[in-house]
Amino acid sequence: MNLELTEEQTAVRRLAADFVAREIAPHVVDWDRAESVDRGIVKKLGAVGFLGLTVDEEYGGSGGDHLAYCLVTEELGRGDSSVRGIVSVSLGLVAKTVAAYGTEEQKRAWLPRLTSGDAVGCFGLTEPGTGSDAGSLATRAVPDGGDYVVNGSKMFITNGTWADVVLLFARTNDTPGHRGVSAFLVPTDTPGLTRRTIHGKLGLRGQATAELVLEDVRIPASAMLGQEGRGFSVAMSALAKGRMSVAAGCVGIAQAALDAAVGYAGEREQFGRPIARYQLVQELISDIAVDVDAARLLTWRVADLVDRGEEFATAASKAKLFASEAAVRAANNALQVFGGYGYIDEYPVGKLLRDARVMTLYEGTSQIQKLIIGRALTGVSAF
Ligand code: FAD
Repeated sequence: MNLELTEEQTAVRRLAADFVAREIAPHVVDWDRAESVDRGIVKKLGAVGFLGLTVDEEYGGSGGDHLAYCLVTEELGRGDSSVRGIVSVSLGLVAKTVAAYGTEEQKRAWLPRLTSGDAVGCFGLTEPGTGSDAGSLATRAVPDGGDYVVNGSKMFITNGTWADVVLLFARTNDTPGHRGVSAFLVPTDTPGLTRRTIHGKLGLRGQATAELVLEDVRIPASAMLGQEGRGFSVAMSALAKGRMSVAAGCVGIAQAALDAAVGYAGEREQFGRPIARYQLVQELISDIAVDVDAARLLTWRVADLVDRGEEFATAASKAKLFASEAAVRAANNALQVFGGYGYIDEYPVGKLLRDARVMTLYEGTSQIQKLIIGRALTGVSAF
């Protein structure tokens, strides 16, 4: 793997850093307190090309490789994980999956809108009763005169309240031994689909997370994404790439923690000198720095495998597992450097810790990542 960034990758990283400084950083505290990012950010993300990375220009995408996508995701994560999550889901889980599995008609209908930010996508897999064991989901899509009629509910759906389209996973076949899950692209204004915003999250407070309820929602058979009964594979392949994007966001959190800790340690004086002069403070900072480097290298490794068309799912689980745990450690260490000031939201590190915490939970908890890695190594499923 070549660790030198190309000119194009360096330029896109700089573009993302400038975008964060201009459009995100000034608003982070207010959005967090208000529990809502300004929705106008979506169009701005689209205009600068960040919602179309890796998608073909023919469908409104901005092209680029997966390392460029990770660099942008890292910078957005460094600025605000709530904004980073909008991109990771609308582009990473929805648009990229439509690009990979969609019919020509589905690609033309959704990709230009998603990549420009005219539309927002959400990913509807988790349900109130099924999280880690996503394959046993209970939402049902029953064939009815050329359509499907869907009943069920979805929990913790990122972008849920804002979304124009949900990539919905529903059971279409009950044959024993058959996973029987299919994927559908469902416009959120379809009659029978209602949404409730979930308030009071510990972190990612700016993000529109929702519960979706589907009552006799009628959708045409042409809304199915991929083959009937193959939806679970569609979900798992989306999540494998999604984990790379979460890992990159975690690198951003850890980098922000490092920058904040180094800056504060140089300014804050106790016992007559800057606290950076104390070895125990330097230990906190060097632990963060090692976590940043290790998480970044694991993440870039995944991007490199994807760009070379090689198997990457286990590497993505390793990167997501390590980077998410590293982001929590890094933010916690940075908070320690800030002392009591770390505990109030005028200073950045408390939010970094709150935002980091969910990274070890979603797109597969740390325990689930270990089971995926363990299965790949031993050939035995321990789920
Ligand atoms: P559970 O599966 O009930 O797990 C509880 C605990 O048991 C965990 O510690 C878990 O690791 C452990 N556990 C479970 N099974 C095993 C096992 N076999 N071995 C060892 N330990 C096990 N989902 C979506 O579909 N779309 C989204 O956009 C989305 N966004 C989210 C945003 C937020 C803010 C949050 C909090 C969640 C989001 N999720 C989303 C859901 C997320 O993916 C799930 O919360 C996650 O998969 C875990 O499921 P669960 O919460 O039901 O926990």
